Amino acid sequence: MKHPLLGIHHVTALASDPQQNVNFYTKILGLRLVKKTVNFDAPDVYHLYYGDETGRPGTILTFFPFLNAAPGKRGVGEIGVVSFAVPGDSAGFWAEHLSKHGVDFDGPTRRFDEEVFSFLDPDGMRVELVFTEGVEARSYWSGGSIPREYAIRGFAGVTLWIAHSESTARLLVEVMGFSLVETRGPKTRYGIGAGPDRVAVDLITEPTMSSARQSAGSVHHIAWRVASDEGQHAWRQTIADNNLHVTDVLDRNYFRSIYFREPGGVLFEVATDHPGFTIDEPVDVLGSHLKLPPWLEADRTELERALPPIVLPR
Ligand code: ZN
Repeated sequence: MKHPLLGIHHVTALASDPQQNVNFYTKILGLRLVKKTVNFDAPDVYHLYYGDETGRPGTILTFFPFLNAAPGKRGVGEIGVVSFAVPGDSAGFWAEHLSKHGVDFDGPTRRFDEEVFSFLDPDGMRVELVFTEGVEARSYWSGGSIPREYAIRGFAGVTLWIAHSESTARLLVEVMGFSLVETRGPKTRYGIGAGPDRVAVDLITEPTMSSARQSAGSVHHIAWRVASDEGQHAWRQTIADNNLHVTDVLDRNYFRSIYFREPGGVLFEVATDHPGFTIDEPVDVLGSHLKLPPWLEADRTELERALPPIVLPR
């Protein structure tokens, strides 16, 4: 494959209260708020990006927080679980840390030979910590609330809930370059990405579950990494050749994106690694100011007045 997908670029989800979202993902999970901007398609809502020190692809979880949004309903046709990798020997730390902050978790449970903690974020999104040997070398945020030896090392993977998974599985393996790892019961694991960036994508077939209704606590989409604009154009053609509707290339300021819906209903994006989050802010102050793309700067005063204030917890 000339332009392989390199793993997960980012995962984007929906939330309600932005302050509650910031508190949970920075103070409790120890991620860095690397960008405070707005939804480019609906700029009266924040777009919050969390990640490692620089928001490296593979570490980025983003949210559109709609104040007072009703909770979504979990179901098929969506990503039901977002999993982070943490060092293999950190379960003791995380058990105490989550308990101290009143986060009710299940685990450790065993799955595909790994130990997992599972809990809900404040809006009901299912989050996992996967205790993973060998992830210590991956990047993380050392300036946050979690000691560096236990800090989150980007994504371990995601779980897709699909009513009938044959077409999705075929797309992943035959078109997108995923490899089949293992099937256990209703769950099949696929892998994508090389070396330390490799992530697991679990497909769970749920033929009797009703469709998801997306709102706060729902994962909106997942973006896969591509190294270059040339690669992105090649993927756009490949997706169209497989009879899936794919958008034009959209400028997301920090990366460029195309979007398409896979046959099981999950929204996929292919995003470029560059230019990244330091394009409009130096590394040491990432996330500290509301950043707007050039085409929204004229509306700054109005947007700042409309958006609820956010305080970064100490
Ligand atoms: Zn996205």
